Amino acid sequence: MINLAELLEGHLEELVQAEVDDNGMTRAFAAGVEVPRGAANLRSFARAALEFCLPREFATPEARGYVSQHPVGVVGTISPWNLPLLSFTWKIAPALAAGNAVIAKPSEVTPKTAYLLSTYLNQAGFPPGVLNLLHGTGNSVGELVTRHPAISRISFTGSTATGRHIGLACAEGFKKPPLLEMGGKNPSIVFADADLSKAVEGVKRAAFTNQGQVCLCGSRIYIEKSIYNRFREALVASTEGIVVGDPLDPQTQHGATISGAHLEKILSYLELAREEGGRLLCGGEQVNMVGRCAGGYFVRPTLFEGLPVDCRTNQEEIFGPVATLTPFQDEEEAVELANHSSYGLSATVWTEDMERAFRVVDTLDVGMPWINCWNLRVLETPFGGFKNSGNGHREGVPDAMEFFAEKKTVTMPGLMVR
Ligand code: NAD
Repeated sequence: MINLAELLEGHLEELVQAEVDDNGMTRAFAAGVEVPRGAANLRSFARAALEFCLPREFATPEARGYVSQHPVGVVGTISPWNLPLLSFTWKIAPALAAGNAVIAKPSEVTPKTAYLLSTYLNQAGFPPGVLNLLHGTGNSVGELVTRHPAISRISFTGSTATGRHIGLACAEGFKKPPLLEMGGKNPSIVFADADLSKAVEGVKRAAFTNQGQVCLCGSRIYIEKSIYNRFREALVASTEGIVVGDPLDPQTQHGATISGAHLEKILSYLELAREEGGRLLCGGEQVNMVGRCAGGYFVRPTLFEGLPVDCRTNQEEIFGPVATLTPFQDEEEAVELANHSSYGLSATVWTEDMERAFRVVDTLDVGMPWINCWNLRVLETPFGGFKNSGNGHREGVPDAMEFFAEKKTVTMPGLMVR
């Protein structure tokens, strides 16, 4: 796995080019985040494997013994298009590190980097059959992987609708627990005492990174009333400054959305937000490019305000560069608004009052709240969401490895037993 991580780094340019072609993400994001994280995922779990295979001993006066972890055999992984190499490696690495053989299905929309990775496996020294890629659509290959009786675990990342479907199919198989990482509609909460410039930049990054196509993106922005106008003005100005352009241009900060169908979906939500009474603050339209990107699927970063908390724009995952601004009166209302969602993946809280920050994150129904930052990740911590964002499992080191393993508790009489 470490050899494979090195090979990914050695083929950085090839992988970056493939990811930009397939996904429309910016070169800067592919080279700075997506491909390096692919290598980091493999390294973290490879390191963790050394400890994971050691038995955990226990001893009481009556009993002593150890708990060991065992591979489950053949497991399946199914990953999405939004961060293709990052999510593909995030799923295969723990499955491999726990000692399993893996059938991995990347998204049919973005298969290139997973394919390239498969061409490095021999050189990395992977034994044949340990990591197997199956390319194809969800309805065909995904369905077969999910239902195959010889596959004993499914780790899935994608939409909540697909996750629900896979969960039900796995239940029919009875012996196939799924790990489901699903959608999000995450809140960013800004208190009056926040460092304003840091909060503006952080909230903007949370809303628009990778064209708003990250499950952790913060698309519901709640701002304390006393600073609402000031914050809105600064956020709109900063958002209007985002450079939309050819993803290959190093100056570009905002590339293309994934597909024509997804573009249509995002545009339909822009229409809906207007119908629901939203006031457009910036963006709100497709960007018509010229040259190489003419006819491409570009949407200008968009902010709305004035939308009711219950409306579809505020409740449904758009998964594009669209966020809403809503004022709140006090801490209690901020938490109430933030928790008013069927999703519970992540949140960001911006305040200089740490006591308040801890109080607020304690009451947020999300798996990953951030304080004064967004998407700052330590891979050796649990990753996953509450409510419709997950099904109770977590990824990360060592949680994901435990999902892909069976525990064995070996017990003997303790030294005190006569
Ligand atoms: P999707 O659910 O359409 O597809 C995800 C994967 O599932 C693809 O590989 C697809 O081929 C496969 N699939 C589709 N139907 C299937 C079926 N019937 N059986 C088996 N497999 C099937 O999701 P998407 O559009 O590729 O990705 C976007 C979604 O992913 C968003 O909702 C986003 O929030 C979510 N996401 C979540 C996380 C997280 O960690 N929680 C991370 C990234 C993306």
